[in-house]
Amino acid sequence: MMETKNNRRQFFKLLFGAVALAPILRVADVFAKAAMPKSEKIKKKMIDEKTAKRLKYVEAAEDAKKGKAAANKDFKKYTDGAMCSNCKFYKADKGEPDWGKCTMAANRYVYKTGWCKSYRKA
Ligand code: SF4
Repeated sequence: MMETKNNRRQFFKLLFGAVALAPILRVADVFAKAAMPKSEKIKKKMIDEKTAKRLKYVEAAEDAKKGKAAANKDFKKYTDGAMCSNCKFYKADKGEPDWGKCTMAANRYVYKTGWCKSYRKA
């Protein structure tokens, strides 16, 4: 009986630990998927974590789609096909068009396949 209680307690400890880590891992994911830009200029002015968090930015719009399907309220505004490259706030870099400045992200660079809650169709 005592062992069952301990096992249950351990299970809930692990579960709550995993739940607590989930948002941290999600933010880390934001910066892990896209290829890094070649240009040093872009590397220095990429969207920062704080702005990404505020905008609910993800580098793969596909993740926003999955989030919406899972009823994650961060992604409730996502619409099929929406991504940075077809957003009115995106201005592709001439030298590296996979990256573009975003006026909603304080003119920092975002990845072309990204998405955020401020998306507006161009
Ligand atoms: S406002 Fe548009 S370009 Fe900027 S991060 Fe959001 S979806 Fe991408």
